[in-house]
Amino acid sequence: MGLPPQLTPEQRQEALLKAAISRKRRAEVKFKIKNGEFSIDTVLEIAKTEDAVAKMRVKELLESLSGVGKVRAQSLMERLNISPTRRIQGLGRLQIKQLREEFMKSEHAIKPGKLLVLSGPGGVGKSTVAKKLREAGDFWVSVSATTRSPRNNEIDGKDYFFVSDDEFTRMINADEFLEWAEFAGNRYGTPQEKVEQALLLGRNVLLEIEIAGAKQVKAHLPQSVLVFLEPPTWEELVARLEGRGTDSPERRAERLKLAQEELVAASYFDVVLINDQVESVVRRLIELAHN
Ligand code: 5GP
Repeated sequence: MGLPPQLTPEQRQEALLKAAISRKRRAEVKFKIKNGEFSIDTVLEIAKTEDAVAKMRVKELLESLSGVGKVRAQSLMERLNISPTRRIQGLGRLQIKQLREEFMKSEHAIKPGKLLVLSGPGGVGKSTVAKKLREAGDFWVSVSATTRSPRNNEIDGKDYFFVSDDEFTRMINADEFLEWAEFAGNRYGTPQEKVEQALLLGRNVLLEIEIAGAKQVKAHLPQSVLVFLEPPTWEELVARLEGRGTDSPERRAERLKLAQEELVAASYFDVVLINDQVESVVRRLIELAHN
């Protein structure tokens, strides 16, 4: 074992002060857990950005929860394979998920939000509906990753996370997607972690994705509500797709062919809405989330 680093008196003073501030912060967080102001979810969220909280021992976190004494904390940690000295920052993804699920069952739970999946043929107007819903503030709208190049007016991180083919493959292999699919020569996927977090924090979540992806979401999360948006008429859809000046003629023809195939999928969905008026579709979706 190497010797401890030699600190100057100033450095030592600084380190002690830092440690004292961290301890004070942890004590404050524990106090808030005890009096019910912070749930386990809140603490796990804070730990993502605050080092002092990330260094809190899981044992201390659990024992601070009202109704969870030393015995329950210990048996829970044994069951979830969490070592007695483990700190929040050392928890694995599965352990975090299991801890959250454990406390969702109890009185500490926040009611999780609803997951609505909006799908339908390309050009039907899904993104306009999603934009309105985001503005209305009723939904947290997921931002997908895609290998497609940005269109003129699109902003990275807002419309999509524009990623390279290699990065997309890395994300698949790291199990970062709730679902992903190939569409018209590009890949699109929903980042999983942010969706789960938003739902656990009680937000209603909207995914605006194509049909194969929607089916995958239903398979993973059967409680999700799949909404299929239909055009008022086929002619209207053709007009919309042809009006999209951003696509090449080949790409437009490809999209029309895809749209024809996609329309058949409506029967698989929980709800079918006709997009004759954006406002009424938005209203219906808000109603569905509050049902
Ligand atoms: P666009 O290239 O026109 O933005 O999108 C093409 C299609 O991909 C649309 O039907 C859109 O809903 C869908 N899409 C966007 N994001 C995702 C995603 O994360 N997953 C899946 N499966 N489809 C997506």
